[in-house]
Amino acid sequence: MTAVSNTKPLVQARNVHKSFDHLEVLKGIDLDIMPGEVVVVLGPSGSGKSTFLRCINHLESIQKGYIEVDGEQIGYRVRKDRLERLSPNGIARQRRKIGMVFQQFNLYPHMTVLQNIIEAPVGVHGENRKAAIENAKQLLQRVGLSEKADAYPRQLSGGQQQRVAIARALAIKPKLMLFDEPTSALDPELVGEVLSTMRDLAKQGLTMVVVTHEIGFAREAADRVVFMDGGVVVEQGKPEDVIGNPQHPRTQAFLSRFL
Ligand code: ADP
Ligand code: MG
Repeated sequence: MTAVSNTKPLVQARNVHKSFDHLEVLKGIDLDIMPGEVVVVLGPSGSGKSTFLRCINHLESIQKGYIEVDGEQIGYRVRKDRLERLSPNGIARQRRKIGMVFQQFNLYPHMTVLQNIIEAPVGVHGENRKAAIENAKQLLQRVGLSEKADAYPRQLSGGQQQRVAIARALAIKPKLMLFDEPTSALDPELVGEVLSTMRDLAKQGLTMVVVTHEIGFAREAADRVVFMDGGVVVEQGKPEDVIGNPQHPRTQAFLSRFL
């Protein structure tokens, strides 16, 4: 008998189209992401990777298709059997399910590491301060920076700052984490520690979508690799297939640069 999984995808993107004025950047993206899955998105610069992540997090709106996260359509709610656009409050509530880490970590320079991490839960979402501090300390342990709670960002290396940014994104207890080239702004010797933190999170069952050019990370940590080019998903599958034996000429051309 064939095992049939009835787990619902955490993210469902269907026929997603996004244009900036007359420039069509996403041309019909279809993608499902299962709970606990680690998906690495590869693709040349300008292929729409960042735009797609920003659409998932409602930092951009889309013109056609839909994106569902955790059973809710991003930017909308169902009311009396009809889709209704969400208010800013409703959008904020949906965004709370999603943590995002960018290339530029942008920690608040005038706040300590701990204050940076509790800012969103306490300052924005009104969580209990003591509980948020406890959670922040656990997160710092998870990213290997327990001893830096009272340091200021300028006292940390770029790699340490990015690990704090990851802890900060996790502080809202997101169901989904989006990473947009989290190591691209780092000096080469600092890339490893951030990737190692991300590998740990992946092993702990976090659902992650990671845009990166780190092919080694994709090989080791990804459950699935998605290759995007020109605003569409060109090819996807297991890392050993997509990276080890790419089928599409565009994937082959892209990957040949890393050999
Ligand atoms: P990638 O992350 O794969 O490098 P992006 O999603 O950043 O690609 O960009 C895809 C295309 O969309 C590029 O041509 C880029 O110039 C364009 N683009 C991205 N954001 C904007 C914007 N806010 N306004 C106009 N064009 C944009
Ligand atoms: Mg990008």
